[in-house]
Amino acid sequence: MEYKKNDIVQVTIEDIGNDGEGIGKIDGYTLFIKDAVMGDLVEARIMKTKKQYGYAKVEKVLEPSPFRVQPKCDLYRQCGGCQLQALQYPQQLIYKQHKVKNHLVRIGKFEESLIDTVMEPIIGMEEPYHYRNKAQFPMGTDTTGNPITGFYANHTHRIVSNTDCVIGSPCNQIILQKILDYMRDCSVSAYEEESGQGLIRHVLIRVGHQTDEIMVCLIINGEKLPKEACLLTSLTQIEHMTSVSISINKERTNVIMGKSYRTLWGQDYITDSLGGIQFHISPLSFYQVNSIQAERLYEQALEYAGLTGNETVWDLYCGIGTISLFLSKKAKQVYGVEVIPQAIEDANQNAILNGITNVRFLVGKAEEVLPEQYEQNHIFADVIVVDPPRKGCEEACLMTMIQMQPERIVYVSCDSATLARDLKLLCEHGYELRRVRAVDQFCQTGHVECVTLLQRIDT
Ligand code: SAH
Repeated sequence: MEYKKNDIVQVTIEDIGNDGEGIGKIDGYTLFIKDAVMGDLVEARIMKTKKQYGYAKVEKVLEPSPFRVQPKCDLYRQCGGCQLQALQYPQQLIYKQHKVKNHLVRIGKFEESLIDTVMEPIIGMEEPYHYRNKAQFPMGTDTTGNPITGFYANHTHRIVSNTDCVIGSPCNQIILQKILDYMRDCSVSAYEEESGQGLIRHVLIRVGHQTDEIMVCLIINGEKLPKEACLLTSLTQIEHMTSVSISINKERTNVIMGKSYRTLWGQDYITDSLGGIQFHISPLSFYQVNSIQAERLYEQALEYAGLTGNETVWDLYCGIGTISLFLSKKAKQVYGVEVIPQAIEDANQNAILNGITNVRFLVGKAEEVLPEQYEQNHIFADVIVVDPPRKGCEEACLMTMIQMQPERIVYVSCDSATLARDLKLLCEHGYELRRVRAVDQFCQTGHVECVTLLQRIDT
């Protein structure tokens, strides 16, 4: 039978897709169904059809899955943030464990039996809500002309008004309300994507997990804030406010942050600590969004690195030096490489802050710095740690790693599909997959973080 848009069908959900959507079949035709939970029987509306598969959304849950729970957030279906909120947390963990395994088998071409042997149980959270230490809220205007903020609705740039996010920090609400009040009282406009007009684009909020220190950075389409003092008077009344800044972004792009920032009040950074090491974090630097799980992730990476104190370690994609400094306690020398100059400034400060002298940080792209250093300075590594963004490592970077022949490679990844692709290449060139562990850094969402250990084998 042929299906078309707006057809209503009954489907039992048998699986979960890559983005947390339900998967079910009707007469052998596969449907990806938003907001459906594995085990549900649903009535779904078909939204888009392709030859082999189609997309649908839930109209009505006819028989709820035993794994279905009441989402804590009322706006969960409209907001694109948490795809798995209606799925029991233990089932979310099972799903993520399977997702990583599937990618390693399908994309990485590893034997399923090998993955079953090397893969350890996923590390979940005891309290999988309010874990995010960072949020970036888009600003907009509602139909009556009032400033609003919230989240983009799934796959759109339409703002769903909401300041109370169940995975965000509770302090976001107070801060956002003060910014909205300032905008209304001082007639400060929100940015409008279609026209490129209006001032305030986004608000970045960061909170130190251990220190409670708060950073607010307003991303603006202009040079300065009108009546800046009003905003500062209001924001600085908030307990633990530590840094207020602006970042100028006049480009008509989806990129949120500008290229630099200017502090309006307080420090240029907030401080937080992980595993007893203190970190300065500035607005443009990357910092793991889930501090509790980041500590567990780094501990696992440290264990996989198997350091005894004599090793030279390269930490590629090092950000503000979190993993480098974590490893430095047990290594002879650590080198970190990172593309964002401000993050390297933070990394250098962080080494000084902790009295750590056996680390050196280099600015640049890993795929350029590593080959250059290898050719010119004949650099050497016992262990290489990589923690790239979602797109994974460039082949030039992986090929240099292979030439350097480190004893061990620890690959930390926030995208198991690109992880699997890169591990395949490394394992075709003298490495063996020894350990894999997923860590749930992004509870309620379909994303999963992983750490893996590769061992060099004599060929
Ligand atoms: N290991 C760090 C950061 C991981 S996020 C931590 O756990 O905190 C990935 C980092 O890679 C980001 O800081 C990003 O700026 C950086 N990055 C992105 N592309 C890069 C490239 N081609 N070369 C080096 N660093 C890159």
